[in-house]
Order: sequence, then structure tokens, then C-alpha cells
Amino acid sequence: MTNFIRTDIDFAYELDAQDELASFRNEFVIDDPNLIYLDGNSLGRLPKRTADFMRCAVEEEWGKRLIRVWNEGWIDTPTELGAKIAKLVGAQADEILVTEATSINLFKLAVAALRARPDRPKIVSDVFNFPSDLYIMQGIIDLLGHRHRLELIPSADTVTIAPSAVAEAIDDDTALVTLSHVVFKSAFMYNMAAVTKQAHQSGALTLWDLSHSAGAVPIDLNGAGADLAVGCTYKYLNGGPGSPAFLYVRKDLQTQLSQPMWGWFAAQNPFAFDLDYTPAADISRYRVGTPPMLSMKAVEPAIDILLEAGMDRLRAKSLRQTEYLIFLADRWLVPLGFTIGTPRQASLRGSHVSIRHPEGYRINRALIEAEPPDVKVIPDFREPDNIRLGIAPLYNTFAEIHRAVDRLRVIVEEEIYQKYSVERLAVT
Ligand SMILES: *Cc1c(COP(=O)(O)O)cnc(C)c1O
Repeated sequence: MTNFIRTDIDFAYELDAQDELASFRNEFVIDDPNLIYLDGNSLGRLPKRTADFMRCAVEEEWGKRLIRVWNEGWIDTPTELGAKIAKLVGAQADEILVTEATSINLFKLAVAALRARPDRPKIVSDVFNFPSDLYIMQGIIDLLGHRHRLELIPSADTVTIAPSAVAEAIDDDTALVTLSHVVFKSAFMYNMAAVTKQAHQSGALTLWDLSHSAGAVPIDLNGAGADLAVGCTYKYLNGGPGSPAFLYVRKDLQTQLSQPMWGWFAAQNPFAFDLDYTPAADISRYRVGTPPMLSMKAVEPAIDILLEAGMDRLRAKSLRQTEYLIFLADRWLVPLGFTIGTPRQASLRGSHVSIRHPEGYRINRALIEAEPPDVKVIPDFREPDNIRLGIAPLYNTFAEIHRAVDRLRVIVEEEIYQKYSVERLAVT
């Protein structure tokens, strides 16, 4: 725990001057110095090298090589990219695949897990999970004829989940425990190893959603003994809007489990065009169809930047930044009616900070729609009252955090938010 004392902007500049990762900000396209982007946990910034990489992918690879390019490397991109992501999440190179969307991968792996535990009727998740993840479970229960039930671990304080509540939910009826490693609203982070151990003691499988933790915190899937995981690449991994997701299946489970979408790319030899399906004997059996190559290509240069920076250094900076944000918020925002909706204990916190206020939605609008000379801040809003401030340690600075919290203070003190409507936009 760092003890901050000074609230002046010069101190923020000093922290930036001491930051050994500061130069990574130059890797990103940042065209508006008046815009503070705190939404890297929803859509990461565009890396400069991605623009060149994509120009090559479009003009040279697609444009000139045409269909030959599949044999010139494209066909292996999902597994080669998986090998790179494996280094970020503590997995073996052949345990990760880049494919489809997070929701689809969750569907495939959850069905595979339930089929491997046919006598167990219970799926355990929590009240903090991303709604899509819960909808997918509800849809699976419907598809499988209502033989399963979904039990959600409650939260006593609306920010964290107590280990005792986890222990209470997992029992001998449990087939699958599926949780977000870092939850999207409060940024609460589970102890992956402890929960996985509990699940295994009861004979259940675990399926982790890493969407808010990959690229944000160090992850050790192998060390935790995790069975299955999914995650997206467009948040902290900076892969671009709608870039394909990844999935993880522990090596020894890969041939034991069977995912339900038997597309040709999951087959042992797609180009044999056999009329009967034989699944591939490795991670490829979790593929489905032709990969979306252009959006997949954009993931690679972005992952390279994270690997160069290193997850341990990124975590150290992220914790210092979220700590600093909470320190300023305690000083300036809590007296104005805000509460901190994120764990104060570092080991329980991901890389974003939720601050809550009854007028959260309108305050959020006022942040985004400010006009010069006022600074424009882009966080995002999550119902009912959370303003999420995402810290992407690759490119966010301490001075940005200072300016953003200061702007929040002004918006509330001067009641600038009163100018905005409470009516919700389509994307918040
Ligand atoms: C962002 C996110 C998703 C997104 O799912 P898509 O299918 O890629 O839209 C899923 N789960 C969690 C926990 C997320 O944070």
C-alpha cells in the first residue's frame, strides 16, 4: 500500500517522471491531448504499429497473395496468437486458441463441461458476472431440457464476494463453477487458485472469464490448476473493436471434453472433406469455422506490446495508479456524495475503479460531452450508479488520473451534470 499525501498536479508529474513504463504511451495513437481516455477496459486504444500491420495484411497479404495466403501462415494464426496470449495468462503454448467471441466460447466450453459431469445438476456463478455470461448459462439450461439450475453466489457488500459464500455455493451437485476473474462492475478479483481448489475438491470443473483481467493483472492458469477459460481481446489487450476472443482448455482435458459445435475447422483434417466428423486431437477441436482473419491479425501487434512491457511491471504500475485514483477520490469526491465501489485491498482489485454516485449517469455524460477549454474524460457507466474509470497502465498517466478526478469534482461542485438528461443512450 502506497501512502500518498500530495494532491497537487506537480506530484502527478513527478510520478509520471518516475514511471519506467512511460514510453509505452508513444506506442499508441493519441491525437487529442484534451481527451483523457479511461475506457481501455471496454475498448483499448489503437497501437500505432497495428495500423501498419493492417495495411500490410490488407494490401499485401489479401490483396496480392489472395487465397495462397492461407498456406503462407494464416491458417495457423489462431494457434500462434494463442501461444502468445498463453504467455500473458500462465498457460502452455498449445492450450490457447483465438476464435469467435467470448460469449460463443463460453457456450462451447460450458456445454463441454456439463457433458463431462452428467450426473450433476448445478452451475455456480455470482451476482457480479457479466450478464452475457449468465444469459449463455440460462440458454444452455434451456437447450439441455432444464436438467440444470444456476445458483448465483451473493455479495454482502455490493463490492466483494466473501470466500465463505463461495465455499457455501460449491457442493457435490456442482458440475461447473463459472466466474469472471475480475468482475466488470466493482473490479473485485477472485483468488483463482483457491476457488479452483474448492471446485476440484467437490469434483466440479472451473470456467473463468478473463475479459477484465487479461492484460490487466498477472494470471497463472496453470499454477491455479484452472480447467477452462475464455476472454476477449478488445479490452486491455487492445486488439480492436470486435476482435476475436480466446479460449483455454487445459492440456489433459482437450481430448476428454467435447464441444458442441462440430464445424469443419474443429475436425482432424478439414480439407479431407470427410462426410463424418472426427475431432482434432488438440486445441483445434475447439475451433468452429473460418477465422475472421482481418480482425484476428490486429490482435498480434497489440499483444507484442504487452509482452514487451511485461505483466508484472504493468501490474505494479496499475496498482499504483488505482491507489492514486482512490486517494484523490477519497479527498475530493467522497465529501461530495461519491462512494468507492471497488475493493481497497490491492490483492482483491483489478485495474479499474468504480466510483458511485446517485447522479452517476448524468455526471458520466458531463465528463464525455465537455467542450474545450474543459478537459473531456471518457469512462463508462454501468447501472445503476457506477462510473467506471479504467486504468490501462500501458498508456494512462498519473497526470490524466489527476485531471479526471479534478474534473469530476468540478462537475459535481458546479452542478454541471444538471444540464444533461437522465435518458440513457444506446451504448453507455
Ligand atoms: C467484455 C466481456 C464479454 C464480452 O463478450 P462478447 O461475446 O465478446 O461480446 C464477456 N464477458 C465478460 C466478463 C466481459 O467483460
